[in-house]
Amino acid sequence: MAVASFSAPSAVALESRLTDSYGRVIHDLRVSITDRCNYKCVYCRTGELGAQYPELAIHEYLRLVGLFVSLGITKVRLTGGEPLLRHGLVDLVQKLAAMRTIVGAPLDLALTPNGHLLDSLAAPLKAAGLNRVTVSMDAVDSSVFEQITRIPNSFHAVLGGIRAARDAGLTPLKINCVLLRGFNDDQIEAFAWFARDENVVVRFIEFMPLEEGRLWSPEIVVPLREIVDRINRVLPLRELPPREPSETARRYTFEDGIGEIGIIAPVSQAFCGACSRVRLTSDGKIRTCLFSQMEHDLYGRMQAGAGDEELRSYIVRTVREKEARHHIGEPGFLKPSRSMVHIGG
Ligand code: SAM
Repeated sequence: MAVASFSAPSAVALESRLTDSYGRVIHDLRVSITDRCNYKCVYCRTGELGAQYPELAIHEYLRLVGLFVSLGITKVRLTGGEPLLRHGLVDLVQKLAAMRTIVGAPLDLALTPNGHLLDSLAAPLKAAGLNRVTVSMDAVDSSVFEQITRIPNSFHAVLGGIRAARDAGLTPLKINCVLLRGFNDDQIEAFAWFARDENVVVRFIEFMPLEEGRLWSPEIVVPLREIVDRINRVLPLRELPPREPSETARRYTFEDGIGEIGIIAPVSQAFCGACSRVRLTSDGKIRTCLFSQMEHDLYGRMQAGAGDEELRSYIVRTVREKEARHHIGEPGFLKPSRSMVHIGG
């Protein structure tokens, strides 16, 4: 199939490059390409594996992503569900790699898998043009890991996937770990060693109220300060400066400068003021915030026959309405109707 082609963005579209009403420039698109997942992580899923929402055809994602790119998106992250389950992924990556930003540069192309199937897919994905992967891994102890994923032998599969990704050059390789008090917070120090031993960037993420069930409470969140203090006691840390204003992680290296860890603290130190993201769900809805109460049916408009210019102006108008911030932990906070696995993390 040929790379999707688009009519050139008009001067109007260029002028209305994706900016919200708070002046934030949106250049980062997360696309869920399936909401199916082969893991049932206890903090994310109720235990069902099935999909809740439809998937689009690969050429439909390409058309929609192309519209966003023509409006100034420079970074595309493919996610899910589990994106490695999606048939046609390598083809999709290859065609995204052929797209150019509005200044003629290749896209920054990333993928967030759980790593279970990465061992055999890392090299083909790299060859197709993928730049980086961020693999989720919530414990470095295999039995703790498998209690979380609820899938036998998952730890060794993911470790093999991580090593294959590193060998394929999908670097810098990031490992995301969601910490939950009483589940895996005993893994913090071991993860610091893991970052150094495996030459990966380990990023701890504070748990957000986006699970299918009802597990979240302020007490279960392990906050940034506690993580830093605990690692400091065994391996003293030095904070690194941010590389860009919209960087979500606070970055640290160790005293000898070898290895890196990051902490993403959307709960205890929200970074909404610097948000540069917009999301497209597997069924083609725009979400302007993880915690949006509203979705915007871009695919529905496309199916109804809207042309590129009409769809672009719909995207511009939608992004302008992006929420100022989330309200986690505040009175009256409302969980969104979709959970993380069905939005695309
Ligand atoms: N299956 C892929 C994976 O495991 O990375 C992609 C989808 S998953 C929903 C994306 C990321 O969101 C994972 O790192 C996962 O741990 C994280 N995540 C899921 N639920 C979360 C929550 N309630 N709070 C914070 N992160 C969460």
